[in-house]
Amino acid sequence: MNQARYSDICMDDADNIYLCQVSATVSCGACCGLYNLPNLSREILEVLLAKRTETFASVPRTEEGIFEFKRRNKGPHRLSRPFPGFHHCPFLGLIGDEKSHVGCLLHPAIPGNNGVDYRSLSWYGEQACRIYFCPATKKLPAVYKSILLQTIDNWYVFGLIVTEHALVTAYFKEVEFRLGRPIAVSDYTQNRVSTEAFREFAELKCKWPYRRKNSPGPCNFFFENGLYPRLGVVRKLLDIRQSSYEKIFSELDSGFSSAKEIAAADQLLDELFLKTVRAIL
Ligand code: SF4
Ligand code: SF4
Repeated sequence: MNQARYSDICMDDADNIYLCQVSATVSCGACCGLYNLPNLSREILEVLLAKRTETFASVPRTEEGIFEFKRRNKGPHRLSRPFPGFHHCPFLGLIGDEKSHVGCLLHPAIPGNNGVDYRSLSWYGEQACRIYFCPATKKLPAVYKSILLQTIDNWYVFGLIVTEHALVTAYFKEVEFRLGRPIAVSDYTQNRVSTEAFREFAELKCKWPYRRKNSPGPCNFFFENGLYPRLGVVRKLLDIRQSSYEKIFSELDSGFSSAKEIAAADQLLDELFLKTVRAIL
């Protein structure tokens, strides 16, 4: 919502690190419900956003014109969304000179809006769109935020991982434990291998092979109102052991049906952390 999502107002009030609009290819629209769609994939989302953006360019900037666009772009019925009680805003589109990142089509900076802020016509209303900041903007330490900003190079993965403050924190805490010291931004920005390893970790949001059946998928419901709490790790058999990566597994919405499966998941993370720490040391 904090669309913000432009550097004029999209700023974390804790440490002035912008998370919502980062570069020509990296931005986030997760709080506008970007990922709250069935059958989510980058390809599907890109096609949807590109089509909407193109259509919106010729929409008359009148209340009637914008409401008509909203009606036509409501997207999937609310009950088919992973989180039916969470919106998916039909005004999310692709922005920038190259239309290469996600943003709000109603923002005053969008060409055609002539400096007028049309967000008052959205579901949330202009005020909410302008002032909302997700929990990650306040809960992630500055060093973790900076690493996110400087390593993730595409909007799809960035928006999926940036709101996952507990997952991101668990990842960096594990690296710090193994290093025996706090991490520094340069541990990643000056190191191709640790950057690659962190990107691999972030992509687990899209590719996690042990996501439990019937999970809502990669979309994260991060609003702290108790509506859709994470269930924790689901174990099909009582004798499937705990893991030292329990927090990470929980945040990835995991489900394990055998001891072999959890051992394989442990190994996947062991290798990723080993690669990271070897690269940094
Ligand atoms: S109008 Fe929609 S896309 Fe724009 S900031 Fe508000 S919720 Fe997000
Ligand atoms: S989910 Fe958080 S980081 Fe993403 S656009 Fe909203 S406030 Fe910004």
